[in-house]
Amino acid sequence: MFEGYRRKRKHSDARARERRAGGAAPRSRTLVGMSGMHGCPHSAALPDPEPEALAETCPECVALGQHPVQLRKCLVCGHIACCDSSPSRHATAHFHATGHPVMRSFEPGEAWRWCYEDRSLV
Ligand SMILES: [Zn+2]
Ligand SMILES: [Zn+2]
Ligand SMILES: [Zn+2]
Repeated sequence: MFEGYRRKRKHSDARARERRAGGAAPRSRTLVGMSGMHGCPHSAALPDPEPEALAETCPECVALGQHPVQLRKCLVCGHIACCDSSPSRHATAHFHATGHPVMRSFEPGEAWRWCYEDRSLV
């Protein structure tokens, strides 16, 4: 006697559509207070003029036989390192090793700067 069709259908599929229909900006950073988007104190403390680049490419990648995807330049000491899309992320490693907070793109035609402390463009 094997008549047991175990049919267990759950009709809860429609409930899987849980979307936060919050509209615009559910978490806007209103807690930043005095330091606005361009109020990064780290970039204000950078040396002026900007330090010269210490290398043409990421020397740590060269030592490892890797190819940096894009290059970043530390604006505190001029250290050249590779971006977070590169295998070893030497620019981020440089920040962790030295505490130098601000770098900029070392790619031709790019001039944006990134503060690791603020984790934002500055
Ligand atoms: Zn900063
Ligand atoms: Zn590298
Ligand atoms: Zn540096």
